[in-house]
Amino acid sequence: MGLTGIQIFKLLPKTNCGECKYPTCLAFAMALAGAKTELALCPHVSAEAQEQLSDASAPPIRPVTIGTGDYEVKIGGETVLFRHEKTFFNKPGLAILITDTMDSGEIERRFGSLSLFQYERVGLMLRAEMVALKETGNKEKFLGLVKQACAHPYSIILMSADPSIMKEALDIGKDKKPLIYGATIDNYEAFGALAKEYACPLAVKGAGLDEVTDLTEKLAAMGIKDMVIDASTRTVKEGFEEQVIIRRAALLSKVKALGFPTITFPCEMADDLMKETLIASAYVAKYAGIIVMSDFQGESLFPLLLQRLNIYTDPQRPMTTQEGIYPINNPDETSPVLITCNFSLTYFIVSGEIENSRVPVWLAVMDTEGLSVMTAWAAGKFVGDTVGAFIKKSGITDKITHKKLIIPGYAAAILGDLEEELPGLEVLVGPREAAHIPAYLKMWKAG
Ligand code: SF4
Repeated sequence: MGLTGIQIFKLLPKTNCGECKYPTCLAFAMALAGAKTELALCPHVSAEAQEQLSDASAPPIRPVTIGTGDYEVKIGGETVLFRHEKTFFNKPGLAILITDTMDSGEIERRFGSLSLFQYERVGLMLRAEMVALKETGNKEKFLGLVKQACAHPYSIILMSADPSIMKEALDIGKDKKPLIYGATIDNYEAFGALAKEYACPLAVKGAGLDEVTDLTEKLAAMGIKDMVIDASTRTVKEGFEEQVIIRRAALLSKVKALGFPTITFPCEMADDLMKETLIASAYVAKYAGIIVMSDFQGESLFPLLLQRLNIYTDPQRPMTTQEGIYPINNPDETSPVLITCNFSLTYFIVSGEIENSRVPVWLAVMDTEGLSVMTAWAAGKFVGDTVGAFIKKSGITDKITHKKLIIPGYAAAILGDLEEELPGLEVLVGPREAAHIPAYLKMWKAG
């Protein structure tokens, strides 16, 4: 980001029309300077200003979108070397390799693995998104794979060195906006023409960074913007170094020719899945855009998904659960009501303990902006009047016949204030630790 918010503001229309969803042009300019919005959201910016701003406001690593719909993968767009400096924006896409040498049973299993290995965690669905379809000489089978992939929602990487076969594959799968892999020094003109004709992103494969730079410059001159780079290294140490060099060159030295997300191939770097997974985990941390794996198994994919979630979660924003009343274990009008905060970790620990207890419970989750009970209480967000107001508007009292509310032990100090706010309810102080909830619930009596 080259310009400050004020410099950007000077180039905006200053009409404060609000069409960008920001109340003022200044607010929009500040958000743009912080890479929190896109220039395209202001429809009134002049062509001249747009030219100045699009260069200045573009992230040093170009965002590239592959696929459509729920499994669309957006990569690149990063602005920092280290997550703690700000955040990483776009998590790497995880792909499984499917080739034209595999038998139909194996192909089915691989397509099926993307839906088989999906995990719900902290309210999010963790899953891989991509299939990498590789042509190695059997054109008809490869084109069959493309047709098969189009019947699934997953994003597609088309891998062939032959532009004529790639064209046939694109005729079948163009609506899925696949990644074309890949242009080399020998075929970049033909592949560049395909990327333009079908409006699909293009992967560039060079023998080392010098050749990659040369290729991206040549393709940029042809008008290709959405590129993904592969410097061809398939050894662990050098491959890792290469990712760091590309990221540093794009961010610190402003080398535009390397300002693209990368594609990596752990599947070509190890002969067993666990080693491959370790390599992939290094690439999740630094700085792959796409990671192509030879296979997905639960024990290899789940840790990668979890690692990816952790690294690509904004460290400045706590994870939250939606405010509301959560029925657990089929509660009825005699079931106890517990209240907690909406910090995701608290919610999942508390709800897990309640589930384990097998006691039917209404769990009221109050929006504390992602703060834990203690912190929210100290910040004045989980106190008598706020909890009281939430309970009144939540409608929970219509679902129960008893008049009791259980608050966390750590919030015992709000008991008096809360009883004043909720005169009809008896407020009970529950355990301080979630682990003690099951034993506490066993003593529950509605009457
Ligand atoms: S849409 Fe453009 S002109 Fe309107 S408020 Fe936003 S930045 Fe200003």
